[in-house]
Amino acid sequence: MKQLKEAILERGTVLSTGVLKVDQFLNHQVDTTLMSEIGVEFARLFENDQVTKVITIESSGIAPSFMCAHQLQVPLIFARKKKSLTMNQATVYSSRVYSFTKQEYSEVTVSKELIEKGDRVLLIDDFLANGEAASGLVSIVEQAGATVAGVGIVIEKSFQDGRKKLEERGLRIESLARIASLDGSTVTFIDEIAL
Ligand code: 5GP
Repeated sequence: MKQLKEAILERGTVLSTGVLKVDQFLNHQVDTTLMSEIGVEFARLFENDQVTKVITIESSGIAPSFMCAHQLQVPLIFARKKKSLTMNQATVYSSRVYSFTKQEYSEVTVSKELIEKGDRVLLIDDFLANGEAASGLVSIVEQAGATVAGVGIVIEKSFQDGRKKLEERGLRIESLARIASLDGSTVTFIDEIAL
């Protein structure tokens, strides 16, 4: 997606060979125009997949998934990382997820009343690295007996294992920007290198 790639090149910062900072437009300050375009693009990509709900993880996934859910006219669920007093363990689906950026495990939870057996759930997240966050969400959808309709990722770091892991589970992944490398403090997109 052209506008997204431009934002990554102009407003993103390569922190190391493995980490891209996008606090200027995606996960601290939010460029609402760009997020709206991203949501519309996800909705277009999955418009024929009978999506009944969109799911993401708080907090960085909320901005890009909101407009997608709005466009598809379905609810958006965000899995919580911190336990809420209103949720007791018996009433939630949960999954243990290792955070790539925080380098710690957290328990992500979704209230059981929010996902039903017949649901076709679209997963959206800001980044795909090693696929931990997405796998945690897949597990939650499966615990509910529902179906994963697909996975939408804003920025995929294709040099990490996430896509491979999800494809092995038979999932369709649509990433709006695919990064081949962050070497030399430079973002190289997959479609820029000869395959
Ligand atoms: P994974 O679970 O696929 O290993 O990593 C995805 C999660 O880690 C995303 O939800 C995102 O918040 C975070 N993440 C992974 N890589 C990056 C990165 O390069 N930059 C930022 N800002 N977040 C990342």
